[in-house]
Amino acid sequence: MAFDYDLFVIGGGSGGVRAARVAAGETGAKVALAEMDRYGGTCVIRGCVPKKLMVFASTYAGAMEDARAYGWEVSAGGLDWGAFHDRLEGELNRLEGVYRNLLKGSGVISFDARARLKDPHTVELSTGETVTAKHILIATGGRPVRPDIPGAELGIVSDDIFHVKELPRSILILGGGFIACEFACIMKGMGVDVTLYYRGAQILRGFDDEARGLVATEMHQKGIEICTGTNILSMEKASDGILVKATNGDEKVFDQVLFATGRAPNSDDMGLEDIGVQIGRRGEIVVDEYSQTKVPSIYAIGDVTDRINLTPVAIREGMAFVETVFKGNPTPVDHKLVPSAVFTQPELGTVGLTEEEASEQEPIEVYATSFRPMQSSFIDRPDRVLMKLIVSKETRKVLGCHIVAPQAGEMIQLAGIAVKMGATKEDFDRTVAVHPTMSEELVTMRAPVRTA
Ligand code: NDP
Repeated sequence: MAFDYDLFVIGGGSGGVRAARVAAGETGAKVALAEMDRYGGTCVIRGCVPKKLMVFASTYAGAMEDARAYGWEVSAGGLDWGAFHDRLEGELNRLEGVYRNLLKGSGVISFDARARLKDPHTVELSTGETVTAKHILIATGGRPVRPDIPGAELGIVSDDIFHVKELPRSILILGGGFIACEFACIMKGMGVDVTLYYRGAQILRGFDDEARGLVATEMHQKGIEICTGTNILSMEKASDGILVKATNGDEKVFDQVLFATGRAPNSDDMGLEDIGVQIGRRGEIVVDEYSQTKVPSIYAIGDVTDRINLTPVAIREGMAFVETVFKGNPTPVDHKLVPSAVFTQPELGTVGLTEEEASEQEPIEVYATSFRPMQSSFIDRPDRVLMKLIVSKETRKVLGCHIVAPQAGEMIQLAGIAVKMGATKEDFDRTVAVHPTMSEELVTMRAPVRTA
């Protein structure tokens, strides 16, 4: 049977665009892609990129305070949100153009439309067109979840925060994960009064306990009010903002409420189950190690599969898909030892097992040091950083590395190479320190602080 395309990709985010352009550009496949919103997806348009730019914008007030302490005559004034926002919009437009051009340059045909599946090889577009393809790749990503709370429609989600008309004076953030903690720090840095409600006992569940504890302490020290064991009972409009009733008995008015309560896969209303694609309990498309669904011609990558929801992982999954399907080289996706960073202030960088996970698995040694870095101790700032290695007693391999520090994202990328290569504690030790740096501690920790 002759198809219109060799590959039809649904979703123009990081994973979909990469798979489409590599399949077209490197294998000569005839490829089309449908995107119903802006090209670039969550990462570029309403995630990593604008978030990181907001992180940068939020650090200047603190940097100017530091500069003063170092002897500079400067004063911060306040952030002109409008000016920042205009520049941000300009940058996102530029990046969206880059993504569109990448596709065009590789010979991918783009459809600005929503796509549904009619059968294992047929895609129906919201423009009314129907196209056929030998292979279909679903890369539709995820979306923020709004909790089921009375008055929840008064709150915003992370997609909205990049487009607020003006900065609120006060904000309540609900959640204790990546997005909640990152935006708590961003907003605080921009001069907003920040309160964070988290239903559990400690923010950043799933990360190393010691590391998340230090991030919480540092956030608290910067003036963010963290209320653990707390959830929102109800929200209602008040004359001066949003009145929030909380499970801890608090009743407070906030200018804005941000829900950072997780994300859900975009698998709804695509006709998937009707044609035999299996959908899991959380709405994720169920795939095998090659990202293939139960329907052989249909594959899925990225957040819609809810494996590890990170842009670089989606890109890897897209590349592995092309390698498997278009280059005849079956390539399972490697989800082991993926480094990542939470862009709080300070950042939390992590790769491998937490102390808690590792100690369940085998006997370990823990090497850790927490100290005031030179740059802040010089001006009597109380900030602390943490460098931590989890080491297997038996193999001596570094099973996990956790860093809480400014630029921990940059550091963990490099430490991640060593950990991924299977470096032992002794490999770390025989690497000469770069002095004076914070990360030199990773190669100078002589004795374990504990064993487990
Ligand atoms: P997370 O899953 O990280 O966190 C969701 C938070 O909301 C958790 O603290 C969770 O609590 C809480 N929560 C969930 N439901 C409710 C509810 N009904 N009421 C109150 N609290 C609730 O999701 P995020 O939205 O922060 O981020 C989504 C994903 O996006 C991340 O997991 C990550 O994969 C990715 N991401 C990565 C970033 C990076 O790499 N720097 C940055 C931002 C996002 P509990 O812990 O109890 O479940």
